[in-house]
Amino acid sequence: MTKLPEIVTMEPDAAHKISEIIKPLNMKKRCLIVTDKNIKKIAGDSVFESLTNYDASISIQNSTEKKDVEKFSETMKNYDFAIAVGGGKIIDITKYACYLSKKPWISFPTVFSHDGIVSSRVSLTHNNSKISIKANGPVAVIADYNIIKKAPTRWLSSGVADLLSNITAVEDWRLADKAGKEELNQLCAGLSLTAAESVIKDKIRIMEKNENGLKTMLWALIFSGMSMNIYGTSRPASGSEHNFSHALEKLGSNGLHGEQCGLGSIISSYLQKQDWKKMKNSLRSFNCPVNSKEIGIPAEKLVQALTLAPKIRDRYTVLNKYKIDEKFAQEVLEATEII
Ligand SMILES: [Zn+2]
Repeated sequence: MTKLPEIVTMEPDAAHKISEIIKPLNMKKRCLIVTDKNIKKIAGDSVFESLTNYDASISIQNSTEKKDVEKFSETMKNYDFAIAVGGGKIIDITKYACYLSKKPWISFPTVFSHDGIVSSRVSLTHNNSKISIKANGPVAVIADYNIIKKAPTRWLSSGVADLLSNITAVEDWRLADKAGKEELNQLCAGLSLTAAESVIKDKIRIMEKNENGLKTMLWALIFSGMSMNIYGTSRPASGSEHNFSHALEKLGSNGLHGEQCGLGSIISSYLQKQDWKKMKNSLRSFNCPVNSKEIGIPAEKLVQALTLAPKIRDRYTVLNKYKIDEKFAQEVLEATEII
């Protein structure tokens, strides 16, 4: 079953108007605002102050460790709904705690850094590795234009890179279909590609942080999230480039999710025999890092990650077509001028 958000909006000063915006949802009274220490000052307090019609409290969270979120879900049982005010981490914590406690949640992203802010998938840590779990999507997605506009451009660029990576993810899906491994769903593949293509077309307005440009960005993230929610797994927006990013995380990198996926998309494009230079130029035009130096990850770690990428999960991608040892990984990264 796929649930869609009932409300999607981005408007100036949404943080102060939240009571009014969520009125049609007919939520019960007890609301928990989940945020972190820094975002509390930027947005959490404003959301709290504007929830005059509700019995609201604030909870500061910072751990995406599965067992910590499970513990937090016990607290969540005392509330009727939650509002996640923050970036990907806070949204993942809220999403999973609400899934376990069977409560609805509202997504209030303060950055547009990746498509997890609207999807039903949760990324947590368990036994020192990243895990992805299916949960429920938000009942509403509300963004405050004034807050999103002020967020550092690096987060926005990372969100764009996560969307551009849909192009290689869908190509991997086509290859899987061709190899008889996983049938392509045209609608979900189309939604995913539309998300990527629309941000490319709206590049100038997005980079200027124009209100309509950022609306395109929000809807593109929603289309990307929806493609995964409708299909039921992350397949439409997560292929070999995401394997590469997950491999980097496993090796202990601290690049942003989208930045790593963007770099992965250059590699995947190259291996898929697509126009990898076009992918690289698109990323560059959004100020995304396109090589080892710019992303701040040493060449050896990138080589190691590419070697590890095929073993990350059981999903047929272009990586299955090659025998990727250290020598081959080195050659690919050099050919794409990443190292
Ligand atoms: Zn992603």
